[in-house]
Amino acid sequence: MKLLGKIILFLLLTVITQIGGLVYMLAITCYPFLNKFQNRIVRGGLKLGVFLVLYSLITFVLVPRIAPEFGRVPLPITTKGNLKPLTILTPLLNRHYVRPELEKSAQEAAIKMQEKFPGTSVNYLDANFPFMNSFPLIPHLSHNDGKKLDLAFLYDDSQTGIDTHEAPSFIGYGVCEDPLIGEENTAAFCAQKGYWQYNLLTAVVPQKHKNNFTFDAQRTGALVNFLAAHEEIGKIFIEPHLKKRIGLKSDKIRFHGCQAVRHDDHIHVQLK
Ligand SMILES: [Zn+2]
Repeated sequence: MKLLGKIILFLLLTVITQIGGLVYMLAITCYPFLNKFQNRIVRGGLKLGVFLVLYSLITFVLVPRIAPEFGRVPLPITTKGNLKPLTILTPLLNRHYVRPELEKSAQEAAIKMQEKFPGTSVNYLDANFPFMNSFPLIPHLSHNDGKKLDLAFLYDDSQTGIDTHEAPSFIGYGVCEDPLIGEENTAAFCAQKGYWQYNLLTAVVPQKHKNNFTFDAQRTGALVNFLAAHEEIGKIFIEPHLKKRIGLKSDKIRFHGCQAVRHDDHIHVQLK
């Protein structure tokens, strides 16, 4: 039973963070040294502490230096730059690695956004893990080769009308800019076709902050256009009703299909 628990923990940490399972195995080799502590709570706390120290060192010091050797670089993790994580959970879980060309494209789009809309920073969501092609970044279907990146929409504070850096969903996904009456409703279309997963996140993610935010079509549209104009970018996914509402023209902007999830809560960008 103890072994089964360890295997489950290893798998869980590997699925969520890629390197967490290996860090756990490394931490286990230190645990015999902690057995001299008689108190179970103290011993458990020390074991957790050893894991967390090793995980932090490997995640923030070692992996960012090794990953470029395997063709991926980390996106910035500070909250002050033009391009930043919406939530620190993304870099904490090693989900912020991309190929260098994608990092450059995203950085350049973020700089252009800052020039056009001073004070605007671009929030990134899930990208890819640091190592190995075909290692899935669950729950995303395709974020497994360093070529994919999700970006948050831009919003205004609905009370003041002023630009905000925040988003209605703390993870950036699951709070959608629904189709208006008369607009194409792909969410309803896909649900009707039996693709139950298409709307799943809206049922899971709390919607309570939705009314505090107004979708900023102008800034979000500018961000999509800056990305679409970039030579390295091959495809961008955004829900068809928003493509039409914003007036986006690039033929790089496609409908992702009902087998994916809704893209009226975030932008998906990928390299050629
Ligand atoms: Zn994506």
